[in-house]
Amino acid sequence: MFEHIQVAPADPILGLNDAYRNDPHPHKINLGVGVFKDENGATPILKSVKQAEERLVENEKTKSYLSIEGTEAYRQAVQTLLFGADHEVIAKQRAHTAQSPGGTGALRIAAEFIKKHLPEATIWVSNPTWANHQSIFQSVGLEVGSYAYYDSTAKSLDFEAMLASLSQVPSGDVVLFHGCCHNPTGIDPTNEQWAQLAKLCSKQGFLPLFDFAYQGFGSGLEEDATGLRVFLNQVQEMLIANSFSKNFGLYNERVGALTVVCESAEQADAAFSQVKRCIRANYSNPPSHGSAIVTEILTDQHLRSLWEMELKAMRTRIHEMRSLFVNTLRAKGVTQDFSFISKQQGMFSFSGLTPDQVAQLRTEFGIYIVGSGRISVAGMTKDNMEPLCDAIAKVLA
Ligand code: PLP
Repeated sequence: MFEHIQVAPADPILGLNDAYRNDPHPHKINLGVGVFKDENGATPILKSVKQAEERLVENEKTKSYLSIEGTEAYRQAVQTLLFGADHEVIAKQRAHTAQSPGGTGALRIAAEFIKKHLPEATIWVSNPTWANHQSIFQSVGLEVGSYAYYDSTAKSLDFEAMLASLSQVPSGDVVLFHGCCHNPTGIDPTNEQWAQLAKLCSKQGFLPLFDFAYQGFGSGLEEDATGLRVFLNQVQEMLIANSFSKNFGLYNERVGALTVVCESAEQADAAFSQVKRCIRANYSNPPSHGSAIVTEILTDQHLRSLWEMELKAMRTRIHEMRSLFVNTLRAKGVTQDFSFISKQQGMFSFSGLTPDQVAQLRTEFGIYIVGSGRISVAGMTKDNMEPLCDAIAKVLA
C-alpha cells in the first residue's frame, strides 16, 4: 500500500534547522528559524513563565479535558490583549475566541472554517509570506492567491502595488494580513497605510484574516495591535489567528488562539459554534499547560509587569542587533546598502543575499540562512557579529 509514496521535500525552514544541528562546524551560526535567542545564543524560559509554572504545579488539581474552546479566563485574556480592555467588540460580545495549538493551529482551524462556510473564497496572501501559509490553506483545498507587497529593489513596502492588487480582490474572498513584524520582510504598513487598507477592505467587501504571531516584538503590545484595531473601526467581521510562541517564548507548549469577530452577538455565537465543530474534528480540545501559563501571567499584576519587561528586553535586543549588524558590515568595508535592516521590525529581514551567496555562507562558514535570503536577526549576538559580518563581506566581495 505504501510502495508508491515518495519522500517529501524537507521543510524549507525546519529542515534547515536539522541541517544546522548536524553541522560539525565549530563556529556555526543559525539565522534560519524564527526563535528568539538571548545575547548568549540561548532560548531560555522567561522568568515570568517559570514563576507562573511554579504556581501552577502547586495549585493544579486535575488533568481532565478542557472544553473545546479552552478556558474562559484564557479566552478573555486573549481578547483584552488583542482589542484593549474597553473595546466595543468585547462589550457587545461580538467576538469569540478559541484556544488553539499555536498560531499554526489557529490558522488551520481558520482555513477549515473558511473552506466549509465560504467554499468559493480564494485566500490572498502577501508576496512574499511565511512559507507555511500556502501549505496550510492548500491542505484544506482553498485556492491561494498572492497580492503585491515587497519592492525588492527599494527593499521597502510597495504600497501602491499592494493597493492595486487588493483593489482586484472581490467581495467574499479572504485577505491575510500580518498584524505586525511581517514575516519574512520585517516591513509593516504605517498607521496611515493601515487606515487606507481598512477602507479598501470595507469598500471591496473582503474578509480580513489577521495572522498575529509577534505582538510586542515590533514597537510594543498596544502599538503592534494598531493595524488590527484600525480595521475594526471600518469592518464588522474579521478572523484573528494569534500565537504566544514568540512573545512568551512558549514555542513547544503550542499556545495560541483563533478569534472570530462578527456583526452581532447572535452571529458570533453561530459562527463560533461552527469553529468548535472544526476543532472537535481536528484535535478535540486544546492542551492545557501553555494556556494556563499565559492566563496566570496576563491576569496577575506582578507576573504581567515582569513579562512586559522581559518582552521589552527581547524587542530591544533585536533592535540593537539590527543596528549593530548594519554598522559592522559598514565597518568591514561592505559598500552594499544594508541600512534598511535597522528600519525594520521583528525577528526577520530579507537580506537581499542571493541563493548562491546563501549557499556559500553555509558550506564555507557554517552560517545558516533561509534560501530566500531571509535572516532571523534574533540569531545574531555581539559575539557572533564579527565572524558573521566577515563572512558576508567575503561572499559579497
Ligand atoms: N504566523 C507567522 C507569520 C509565523 O511566523 C509563525 C511562526 O513562525 C506562525 C504563524 C506560527 O506560530 P506557532 O509557532 O505559534 O504555530
